[in-house]
Amino acid sequence: MKDIKPLKSWDIVRDTPIAIAGPCSAETEEQLMETCRQIKENIDITMLRAGIWKPRTRPGSFEGVGEVGLQWFKNVKEELGMPITTEVANAEHVELALKYDVDVLWIGARSTVNPFTVQEIADALKGVDIPVIVKNPLNPDLALWMGAIERIYNAGITQVAALHRGFSSFEKTKYRNIPMWKLPIALKTELPNIPLLCDPSHIGGTRDLILPVSQKAMDLDYDGLMIEVHRNPEEAWSDASQQVTPQRLAEILNEVKIKKRKL
Ligand code: PEP
Ligand code: MN
Repeated sequence: MKDIKPLKSWDIVRDTPIAIAGPCSAETEEQLMETCRQIKENIDITMLRAGIWKPRTRPGSFEGVGEVGLQWFKNVKEELGMPITTEVANAEHVELALKYDVDVLWIGARSTVNPFTVQEIADALKGVDIPVIVKNPLNPDLALWMGAIERIYNAGITQVAALHRGFSSFEKTKYRNIPMWKLPIALKTELPNIPLLCDPSHIGGTRDLILPVSQKAMDLDYDGLMIEVHRNPEEAWSDASQQVTPQRLAEILNEVKIKKRKL
């Protein structure tokens, strides 16, 4: 993946795909900084990612470092000069993220399912214009995904992107979350002006699926990828089986073939 430009506005998504990468969770300042440093040393990407508020399905697992991570983000941005995105799941998260100048916010799959949660986030965003990425809900419900995007857009946010991270199912498949590619493509048809990104990490659930899922997304003309990267994936405190090293991220992004984009 060549020619990745820095993200200033979603407008730039129109001619080159964007690449967002970073750990599932910010664990310690050192782990976050070292992972981001190694990403920058290996490949040009558009933006870093890291979760500090982690809504986990079952209790008892790591739920994120919380507010302290926002200062780590500032330090990372100061050292590396790159924008960063994090997940927000309520109004307090939004207020804190804005206070610490997080560049882009994302709404996770467990929040998109709940219109009250999305509305609370939308209300906290009134009067602010920060880009927001809306992940698909856990269940394959196109209207629910569109409704979340509309709530954010109606709050006055002009830069909204959709992110496809697959859909949960009781059936066991090779995917952690089944892609159901028809559903995000239907979203693209309904909302053609909203960039559509793919998260191969949460779709695949294992490292070996990141490349083929990324390739499929590019073949379908997606506008970018969000990939989980950890300096030591096996030791990650969350999503250890799907994170890749910064070196592997570079290989994946260099191997993925991009179709010539229609402008
Ligand atoms: C994440 O991006 O780390 C995450 C928790 O994602 P999702 O909301 O897609 O499960
Ligand atoms: Mn994750």
